[in-house]
This record gives sequence, structure tokens and C-alpha cells, in this order.
Amino acid sequence: MTWEPVIGCEIHVHLKTQTKMFCRCATGFGAPENSSTCPVCLAHPGVLPVPNERAIEWTIKLGLALGCDIAPRAVFHRKNYFYPDNPKGYQISQYDEPLCMSGSFLLPGVGGDTEIGIVRAHLEEDAAKNVHMGGGEGRIHGADRTLVDFNRAGMPLVEIVTQPHLRSSEQTKRFLQLLRQTVRELGISDAEMQEGSMRFDVNVSVRPEGSDELRTRTELKNINSFNFAAQGIEREIQRQIAIYEGGGEVVQETLHFVPGQEHAAPLRSKEEAQDYRYLPEPDLVPIEPPAEMVEQARAELGELPSARIRRLETELDFGLAEGLVTSGRDGLYERTPGDRRAVANVVMNELAAAGLDPTEVNGEELGKLVEARDRIPREAFMKALGASGDGDFKAEDYLGEAVIADESELDPVIERILAANDENVAAYRAGKQGLLGFFVGQVMKETGGKADPKVVNTRLRELLDRS
Ligand code: ZN
Ligand code: MN
Repeated sequence: MTWEPVIGCEIHVHLKTQTKMFCRCATGFGAPENSSTCPVCLAHPGVLPVPNERAIEWTIKLGLALGCDIAPRAVFHRKNYFYPDNPKGYQISQYDEPLCMSGSFLLPGVGGDTEIGIVRAHLEEDAAKNVHMGGGEGRIHGADRTLVDFNRAGMPLVEIVTQPHLRSSEQTKRFLQLLRQTVRELGISDAEMQEGSMRFDVNVSVRPEGSDELRTRTELKNINSFNFAAQGIEREIQRQIAIYEGGGEVVQETLHFVPGQEHAAPLRSKEEAQDYRYLPEPDLVPIEPPAEMVEQARAELGELPSARIRRLETELDFGLAEGLVTSGRDGLYERTPGDRRAVANVVMNELAAAGLDPTEVNGEELGKLVEARDRIPREAFMKALGASGDGDFKAEDYLGEAVIADESELDPVIERILAANDENVAAYRAGKQGLLGFFVGQVMKETGGKADPKVVNTRLRELLDRS
């Protein structure tokens, strides 16, 4: 039997507002532990939350980018649970009246585009951060004590929930990458997985190909790398298939993915909504976003990454178009004139390898460099490319002195080298053709790397074979 994976995601993204969601403490990564706190985010009794207007605007902007309907009236709820990183005993979140609902996200692909349904995107506050100490390599399993850092408590967080519309680990990874790029371009979050400003949970189940049933799913929690997501999903798909093919049943549970470890460790069994005893937050009035706020956010959207991939793949292949857009390099690609594929390759490969910030590169000048790429020595090209991020970079400064392709200039050099290496010349002529590389190397050395390697090769062969 062929099995079809059914995958959905929940993504949490920190908004990069200056202050927290319900108090005026500074947000920001890397401050000393427990230095950015106040009675509100430390959950002292009797304090009152005041919502961050910017966070509401940005959630609306994200909702529009995800094709969601913006609710005319959204309500904050208390989601009750006990956890050491949540001393209030509840998280202020949204429940049945979230800000953004019923969206759809376009995921372009090689074999066509897929619409990934968005169930909702809502606004909530983050919990504090548990820091696991003493063994277990920072993970809860194997640690012997846990400290709590409240800097993260009360940070504005958007939770995005997708429909189970994804069908493979590879497709899920591409979806998460494109979503991250979208969030970053909106200017609402750094979405840095290393710093925890973007994290995802993934729900996985499998079913016989062609059926439309939804079988029991398991959840992989708090993944902070695209590759871990793909690995964890793949492993979970195989595990579930093996269970069904062995006549067993998959149990609903939450699994903690540990890279390199054979099995994901069960964390806790999945809660249901009724376990959280949601109740409307009595200290906050419902949000009724004014129409101007929504229209303002819509006007700021611009052309979204998925639309740009669709546009660029008509002039490049899909892989290049997707790579350029999800790495934020397509802007440079578009402002660099010249052969589209050559430009795309240089921007994606050499320029990325040189570690340059694509926003700092002058496209016009880069275009001249790309145009000359096959005519100038590799070394000269890479040197020029390395300087292309400088504000006053001019390609001609590097191209002018770059190449000696003229035989009348190269012949005296080649003849001198052949004369100085008569034993090697004799060996070559006696059949050791591999020595050609030696002669090319000598010519390049003699010319300071400025000789055109193609011309040197041709000319050397001609002179050596003319015995
Ligand atoms: Zn605070
Ligand atoms: Mn959440």
C-alpha cells in the first residue's frame, strides 16, 4: 500500500516591537537574565495589561499577507495552564475570535503551485524561558535543575495555524522557509530560529493514498531549524507507516525531536481545548480594528515572495527563482542587467560565498562584472566580486587591467618558459601530456594571473605540438 503523509504546522513568531505585549518592558534578544521585567510581566497580583497597538497593526498586516479575513471584532482569552515559566497560571491569547482567519498561502512548486490553507493567525504573549541546567545539554531530558528567565515573558507572539495541506517533509520545509521570508520582509519580525524568534510545531499523520480520512496525528514540538523539521517529519512518517503495516494503531502524543537521536521522546499527551478552560480576558476590551488601520496595512504589503517566485520562474528555472527569493537575493538579481541565468548564478553562488550583503551591491556595476566573467581570469573576477559591496565600487577599475588574451603579448612569455624547461618539453613531446597543466601554471605565475587561461591553453598546445 502507498501511504500519503498529512502535515500541518503551527508557527510562533516574535514581533519585533520595542516593548512587550501588555507592559512597557523593552523586548530584545541578549539582555542579562531577568533584567527586562516589571510587575506586569512578572505576574504580580492586581496588575493590569495594556495592549501594544503596534503588535495589533503588525498582526493584521501578517494576516493580510496570509490572505486572511481580518475580524471586525477580536477577543483576548485566558488560556489556563500551570507551568513554571507561567506564574500567572494563564497565558493571554486568542481563542474563538482571533484577529485573522481563513487565509490561504500560495506555495509555488516544481510540479505546480499549492494553496496552503491558513486556519488562523492570532496574537498572544510568550511565556518566560526555562533554562535547563546540569546535564542534558540544555534539554529538559537529563537536566537536574531549571532556572527561569522572565525577559521573554510577555513578548508579543503571533501564532499561525495551517490546515493539514502539506504532503511531504520537503514541501513542509519549503513552506516554512517561504513563510519565514514573508514575515521578515513585512518588517514585523527577525524570525531568527537561533534566537527563538521563530519556532514551529508540526502535526503528522499518514493515510492510504487516495483516501480523505484524517488518522491520529502526533505533534513534534518546538523545532527551531528547517532541517530538523524535515528530518523529524520524515522519521515520524516512517514510524507511523511501520506501526500501521505491523497491524498497530498510532497513539496521539507530543514528541520532542532530538537531532541525531533515533526516537523522538514523548513529552506529554496532547491537551484538548477544554483542558485550558478558556475564558474571555476580563481586563481587556475586544479589539475592533478601524477600517483605516486595515487599509493602511494592506497598502504597505507590496509584491509578496510567493508571487515573485512565480514571476521569476518564467525567466529562470524554479529552483533558482525559489533560491533567490527565499534568501532575499532576488532584489539584487532584478536590478542587475545582463543574461538572466548568468546573473542569477553569480548572485546565488559566488556572491553568496563571498559573504556579501546583497542590498549593498550596485546592480549596474555587478552587471558589467557578470558580462566579463568568461573573459577574465577567475582570480580577477573573484577579487572584483569581493569588492562589489563597497560604496564606490566600479567594475572597470578591475576589468581594465584584468586580461591578457593577446597572442602577441603571450607568445614571448610562453616561449621563454618553454626554453627554460626543455626537459619537461621533451617529456611532453614524448607523451607526458599531463605536463600541460605545469606549463599553464608557469604562464599564469609569470603574468600575475592576468593571462586568459583559454588562450594560454590553446597557444601552449600549438607551440608544444609544433615540434
Ligand atoms: Zn514588563
Ligand atoms: Mn501559542
